[in-house]
Parts: sequence; structure tokens; C-alpha cells
Amino acid sequence: MPRIYLSSPHIGPDEEGLVREAFATNWVAPLGPHVDAFERELASYVGIGHAAALSSGTAALHLALRLLDVGPDDEVICSSLTFSASANPIAYQGARPVFVDAERATWNLDPVLLAEELERSAKRGKLPKAAVVVDIYGQSADWGPIKAACARYEVPIVEDAAEALGATFDGCKCGTFGKLAVFSFNGNKIITTSGGGMLVSDDKSLVDRARFLATQARDPAPHYEHSEIGFNYRLSNVCAAIGRGQLRVLDERVAARRRVFTRYQQAFADLPGITFMPEATGGKGGQSTRWLTCVVVDEEAFGASREDVRAALVARDIEARPVWKPMHLQPVFRAGAHQARVVGGAVAEDLFARGLCLPSGSNLKDAELDEIIDVVRACRR
Ligand SMILES: *Cc1c(COP(=O)(O)O)cnc(C)c1O
Repeated sequence: MPRIYLSSPHIGPDEEGLVREAFATNWVAPLGPHVDAFERELASYVGIGHAAALSSGTAALHLALRLLDVGPDDEVICSSLTFSASANPIAYQGARPVFVDAERATWNLDPVLLAEELERSAKRGKLPKAAVVVDIYGQSADWGPIKAACARYEVPIVEDAAEALGATFDGCKCGTFGKLAVFSFNGNKIITTSGGGMLVSDDKSLVDRARFLATQARDPAPHYEHSEIGFNYRLSNVCAAIGRGQLRVLDERVAARRRVFTRYQQAFADLPGITFMPEATGGKGGQSTRWLTCVVVDEEAFGASREDVRAALVARDIEARPVWKPMHLQPVFRAGAHQARVVGGAVAEDLFARGLCLPSGSNLKDAELDEIIDVVRACRR
């Protein structure tokens, strides 16, 4: 069998035609009509006012922090259980991350620890400049108490919904819970543009300013005039064409990933010591994208460790990875120029120690799922 990937691109019926149209009209440039349409269509899908298509989710996060005037001497709250791209832009802006532990119910930022940290910061007289809150693996954070705590201290939220395009919480789509939110269209995400991202907000002035900064901050003039430092962060019209096609199949892709999850859940239902990432949204109801199916392996009950299972899968050329290594354990944030603070940490550490991400692509074949399931089941001693 060929290698089975954790999450590989899954192209729909329309992408190639849309890209061909970009070539036929010679819009093989950054920006163009597909970019404008992709922004409108994504904003409409998410149910948000405005969107700026960018070269990556990381670029979108960087611009979000720049728009919120995050700078040196500032602190920025960030989920600890996440990919480094959530946290790196804090360092790009010269600010210091304050990593907050996950809660068991959602694996996302713990609202209780957040509220305590904000209270302490207020007493110290140094509130964080912003909070980057992640919807990890496509599971919405518990937005009710998170929004309430941040609103109380007027700390603006950047929602990192890179893995959660199509997820919902309390009747709204992920990407609508912060002052700004970001999506990623990297090759391994739910939909891809082969690389790209989107910054969204209901505040038109913020998104307009993001577009300005992302196109080298060119002031209106016939010559090139600059009164600010800009970036080259816009998406190409060719990539946006792919994105438009992918948006048309997005709901199918989410449904397929959820079916993969259900398949694993049924296949492992009789196995003691294998538990799944919960789908909990604070009682308000919501749906995860199940971007990746994650399990926690209890070595004693299951009879094999997470590493035993991972090694067995890798030996069969099946890609499986530990759950994200928490940011507060990353060498780059533990000491030196980018040393961060941490609030709690034990939950994220436990999920990293025992959690495993299984192949979860929307294009996985039944035979591939069967093989993965067989390998996991055979690990049981
Ligand atoms: C993928 C990802 C990003 C970064 O997106 P890119 O488009 O790869 O730059 C940010 N945050 C999270 C949680 C991600 O999974």
C-alpha cells in the first residue's frame, strides 16, 4: 500500500477550471477577480462582514497582531496546546507570549485560568494587549466565558480558526468570535489553496487596513509613497481560484472528516484505554470539523503506549503524530530572547504525552481506514 498521510489535499471538480480561467484571462498575478470573489464567498460562508485573502494563516495572524498595535513590552495571551504558527507572530511583533493551559472539555484555552490570569494582570496594572485563542483540531473553544473574561478587561481576541473552517459554536461559525479571526489554506488543512490564509472581521476599517499593510503599505500617489512599514502578504489570483473551488466542497469535506472520526470511534468502541477528543462546546451545542481525529491512549488500560501505537503505524508507512507539543514546553519559548510565561500547563502536557492524531483526510479510502484500524487494534497486548 502507498503511504497514508495524516491529511492530504483533496481537490474537487471545479478547481482546475477556475485556475484555467485565471490563465485564460492572464490574471496570473497577486490579486485579481478570483481574490475578490474568494474573499466575498468566504465571508458569506462564515457569516462575517469582511475578509482579506493572504499568503498564509501565519501572515494573517501577524497582521492581526499588527492591527491591534501589539509591540515590544506587550504581553499576549495564547493557547499553549497549538501549532507554533499561533505563537510565532507574537514574537515577530517583539511581544511576550503568556501561554495558558488547555481544559479537558474542549482541549482549548481554559476559561477559568484565563479569567484568573486577567484578574492578576489587572491588579499588576499590566493587562495583555491581545489574546490569541485557538479552535484546536477543529473543535471550538468555549467562547461564552472566554469572550466574557476578555470583554471585562477589554482585551481584544484574535481567533485562530486555522483548523476550524466549517466548525460551529452556539449557532455561529468559528471565525466569528474574535475582533479578528484567521483561517489557513495550507495543504494539510480542511480546504487548501496550496498555501494561503484569510483574515476576517466585522470591522471593515481593520480589514481595509490589513489589505493596505499586506500590499507593501503603499500610500495613494502615482509614485511609490510609504509612510509605514508594509508587508507582501497578499494571495495570488491563481491560488484564490483553487480556494473558490474548494469552498464549494467545504461542507462535504467537513462531513467526510466527521465520518472518518465516527468510523474510528465505532472501530475502537470495545477497546479499553482508547478515548477520543471530546466534542464539547459548553452545553451550547456545536460541531467540530474533526480536522484530525485525536485519541488518548491509556497505556495501562490499553496494554500499549501512545508511542507503541505510533511506532506500529509508522512501520506500516502510516503517518500518525503526537498531539501538538505545548508551546510552553518548546525550547524557543522556555529561555532566551523569546522566553514566555505560562499559566498552568499540566493538561496540555498530559495530552501531548498520551494523545495521538490519526490519519483523517477527507479522501481516505475505506481500505486505508481498515488497515489503520487493524494496526491500532493489533497493538493491544
Ligand atoms: C496551520 C495553522 C496555522 C498557520 O497557517 P499557515 O497557513 O500554515 O501559515 C496557524 N494556527 C494553527 C492552529 C494551524 O493549524
